Amino acid sequence: MQRELNEECAVVGIFGHKEASKLAYFSLHSLQHRGQEAAGISSSDGKKLRIIKDRGLVTRVFNEQKLETLTGSSAIGHTRYSTAGDDSILDAQPVFARYDLGEMAIVHNGNLTNAQTIRKKLIDKGAIFQTFMDTENLIHLIAKSDERKLLARIIDGIKKIEGAYSLVFLSRTKMFAMRDPHGFRPLSLGRVGDGYVVSSETCAFDLIGAKFIRDVKPGELLIFEEGKAPRSIELFKPTPKHCIFEYVYFARPDSNIFGKNVYQMRKNMGRELAKEQPVEADMIIPVPDGGIPAALGYSQESGIPFEMGIMRNHYIGRTFIEPTQEMRDLKVKMKLSPIEELIKGKRLIVIDDSIVRGTTSRRIIRMLKEAGAAEVHMRISSPPTTDPCYYGVDTPDKNKLIAANMSADEIAHFIEADSLSYLSNEGLLRSVDGEEATYCTACFTGDYIIDSE
Ligand code: AMP
Repeated sequence: MQRELNEECAVVGIFGHKEASKLAYFSLHSLQHRGQEAAGISSSDGKKLRIIKDRGLVTRVFNEQKLETLTGSSAIGHTRYSTAGDDSILDAQPVFARYDLGEMAIVHNGNLTNAQTIRKKLIDKGAIFQTFMDTENLIHLIAKSDERKLLARIIDGIKKIEGAYSLVFLSRTKMFAMRDPHGFRPLSLGRVGDGYVVSSETCAFDLIGAKFIRDVKPGELLIFEEGKAPRSIELFKPTPKHCIFEYVYFARPDSNIFGKNVYQMRKNMGRELAKEQPVEADMIIPVPDGGIPAALGYSQESGIPFEMGIMRNHYIGRTFIEPTQEMRDLKVKMKLSPIEELIKGKRLIVIDDSIVRGTTSRRIIRMLKEAGAAEVHMRISSPPTTDPCYYGVDTPDKNKLIAANMSADEIAHFIEADSLSYLSNEGLLRSVDGEEATYCTACFTGDYIIDSE
């Protein structure tokens, strides 16, 4: 599959609040972990849509002056995370368009699995695309729909797309929020002042003082109109397949997604891992920050002390965004450093949430051994990542996923660990108190719910 430039992301929408664009801005701050490559906000004052988007972190893209220009009581925002890396700011969101009914902006988290088929059909009919984003397809579908009203056009467009989507649309007077029938990616609804907010994660609600109402249901379309409570349409029967990797790595621990708190889920994973994969050691060390809750769970279950043996420099971005292998190695080194006095001569259990290419683990173990660790036992609080995600989490192709190509023993040898083991798929499902039937575990099992082109 050719990768579309729309991977992990965050979306937010504010409706019916006089500080809409500021609230969207603050929300994007707390959603920054879902994407650091580009950010954007579009607002409406009832007559006109305005938009600001650029590459970089939310703090770089916006300042007070710019926010002042985003007037109106409704706003939608986006942060983008993509490794495929087209430099163009056109690939930042919101996607904005003028068409026969007026103006519209869309933000999208997820990946459409039939994007190329749709795009080809649209191009054959003369459509001209400005970006590589699958989200642009939707704008075209809405603009070209034979329906006369915007709502009917949106429904028409949505019925043609497949895959993972948590979407927020903004027109001059309305806002729409939509989650795909499987609810792959999270999307929650809240109340803020006299208005409403939808957000990829609830951590945004906490920051802007919003009150959680409920999750947007899988397959549900919500329509926001001035002076009215949001109207709900069940566009598709819900068939939940929530992304379990949101719990493993992606979502922020203080968020509640899919009805549960992320921190608690990660801690449970650590507990399960301690039960499934015990090993004698002097201390448990997390790979910060991702491994911390699971390491605490492992420590509490096993009785082995927890120590912050590796320090993280918070002032550089995530390692994943660097395209070349060389740069990735360097960045891990810049980002993490061991506390030598603590770990010298000790048998360590090092906990991380996942191994993707194996670069991070290999670097860390080497670093710990150089700092004098006697033994390093790597424990991973999820199953081996064997298959790429087609539904919105950025994973490399299968040939770069180390667990797709090596056994756990071979990986242990590669990362220079004294032992390596993973949480089982059953253990992971037990940790989130869930059943396989309601979660997407394709990155660990290869069981894809929707085929990708
Ligand atoms: P790697 O070095 O390729 O094995 O990557 C593993 C590290 O990346 C772990 O510390 C994970 O916490 C982190 N990670 C896992 N999945 C992702 C992802 N989709 N995006 C960014 N980082 C990730």
